[in-house]
Amino acid sequence: MSRYPAIRGLLFDKDGTLLDYAASWPPINREAGLLAAKGDAALAAELLRVAGGDPVTGFALGDCLLAVGNTQELAEAWCDAGSPFVLADLIFALDALFQGSIARMVPVCPLDDLFTRLRGAGFTLGIASSDSIASVTATAAHFGIADTLAFMTGYDSGHGAKPAAGMALAFCAATGLEPAEIAMIGDSRHDMEMGRAAGAGLRIGVLTGAGTRETLEPVSDFCLDSIIELETTLSRN
Ligand SMILES: [Mg+2]
Repeated sequence: MSRYPAIRGLLFDKDGTLLDYAASWPPINREAGLLAAKGDAALAAELLRVAGGDPVTGFALGDCLLAVGNTQELAEAWCDAGSPFVLADLIFALDALFQGSIARMVPVCPLDDLFTRLRGAGFTLGIASSDSIASVTATAAHFGIADTLAFMTGYDSGHGAKPAAGMALAFCAATGLEPAEIAMIGDSRHDMEMGRAAGAGLRIGVLTGAGTRETLEPVSDFCLDSIIELETTLSRN
């Protein structure tokens, strides 16, 4: 029996939530910096620093632009910091890099098994990401969860950007669920703040990405090590 019978929909962030951030993104962050710097290593290091990333490892510090920003926000910051690209060209190039990196992503767990079980338990599932909708769609296909999803949105889907409520409200509109019937699951404060702004019934932070227990606990109902604990948490008597 569910401890939270009112919760019928689960809206997941992607990076750092379904995908293990530390195992997936540092090398791609480094490549993004070099791309934006057109190969200038010193400028690439500066661009990573500006976005909150370690210039050597590419690891992004908690809740920094590199970890929680969307491509447009990142490209704007990098153009301001000296990237020789025109903004629109940099957005296009970064989105292409990110979309082309899906095969290198490491899932937190076998996502197809988890999502199939969650669907079987009656939950309506969705993904709300600050990545592009093309990347979200391709990620869902790559990991075999597309058929389990009722909703997907990216930063370029027209539902606004986190931490505003738009993406979560679009999930509700698409599925007929009330905000109080959904749980928002994510690795950053932006995800938890979006959940609060939308009136989500539960906000569940996970520690496989940009946040820490210190940053997530104050803004979430639960702070889990990962989505592996989700079923137990939702069904605990
Ligand atoms: Mg995330």
